[in-house]
Amino acid sequence: MNGKNRDPKSRYVSAAACADYSRAGVRKALERVLEPLGGISFVHPGMRVAVKANLIAARDPEKAATTNPVLIAELCRMLVESGADVVVGDSPGGSYNASHLGNVYRTCGLSGIAETGARLNGDFSENFVSNPEAVAAKSFTCTAWLQKADVIINFCKLKTHGMMKMTCAVKNMFGSIPGMTKPEYHMRFPEREKFADMLIDLNEYFHPVLNLVDAVDCMEGNGPTAGTKRHIGLILAGSSPYEVDEVSAHLIGLEGGEVPTIAAARKRGLSGGFAAVRLTGDAIDPFVTPDFKTDIREIGIDFGAGRAGRFLMNSVFAARPRVCARECIGCGVCRNVCPAKAITIRGGKPQIDRSVCIRCFCCQEFCPKGAMKVHQTWLGSMIHRAVR
Ligand code: SF4
Ligand code: SF4
Repeated sequence: MNGKNRDPKSRYVSAAACADYSRAGVRKALERVLEPLGGISFVHPGMRVAVKANLIAARDPEKAATTNPVLIAELCRMLVESGADVVVGDSPGGSYNASHLGNVYRTCGLSGIAETGARLNGDFSENFVSNPEAVAAKSFTCTAWLQKADVIINFCKLKTHGMMKMTCAVKNMFGSIPGMTKPEYHMRFPEREKFADMLIDLNEYFHPVLNLVDAVDCMEGNGPTAGTKRHIGLILAGSSPYEVDEVSAHLIGLEGGEVPTIAAARKRGLSGGFAAVRLTGDAIDPFVTPDFKTDIREIGIDFGAGRAGRFLMNSVFAARPRVCARECIGCGVCRNVCPAKAITIRGGKPQIDRSVCIRCFCCQEFCPKGAMKVHQTWLGSMIHRAVR
């Protein structure tokens, strides 16, 4: 069973207020958000359920970069009570092995997950997938634990994202790609539109049966790892990651078309836009946060994909990565993760070759000090304001 087979009547996006991450409050909110969707009645004893969390990096839950561990634990308890065999995991950037993931699990507050009856994923095998129905990713390498599950629950975190403006349900499934091979996908799909299509292909392939959003404490500004925590106080749930993302974008004041994954989903007929979403549960209006800092704007000018076009775009118009020398410790992580090999370290600080940079913002995402920022040029900001 997967998301494709769910009752179409369950295709609502449900919302429930959740003031904080206290265990009792979280349990109540999870039950309330799932109730209009039929709860977790899809679970039967012995069913293997993969909870695909957002564990983007080894970050303290207080930083709001990862799905909160109390939410994950309470969901696991509910699933185990229904007889499911529950595995929790993700594949963040870097090595996909026991040592790296052990550190990520620990730092993200998941060490005690066994108390719920669930377990953390310890299967680090990979599979090659051929998917002729895909628009962009007709073949890809994925983490095998997700394929071995009977159903996948996609439990994401609502945050800003340097490359894709917002990361929520659709983007979270990029964690199905093993960490070390992720840079390859940035090179294969350097344009946002293609990258968005690739992400949608992953969602269409894995079809999570349920998409849950931790929008209790979100991340604004320099997301997805180095932004600022911003409280919204909501949990969302839905069977369609596209509709869940429509609601999430609305919550943080983004018009869906500004988010490449939402634009691509609309183009493919997978979403009818925010106005077409059937909302249920708590009213979302009191939670809409129009001043949520999502000020990374792109402009729709195409200068071509060659070195000269990239240089012009990166130097003059588009949002681009820029190091804050004061915060940079010269560790070289940005250089190591850069798929385009655009970064060299000189004088202890990163230098970016803008004729090579594909603006994937991996350097910003993985900088352990938050020293790599998304910078919008003055001219780019002016044009954006003029065309909005
Ligand atoms: S990863 Fe961050 S701190 Fe390390 S060299 Fe790059 S910008 Fe500086
Ligand atoms: S410099 Fe940063 S944004 Fe540019 S290609 Fe490298 S990792 Fe991506």
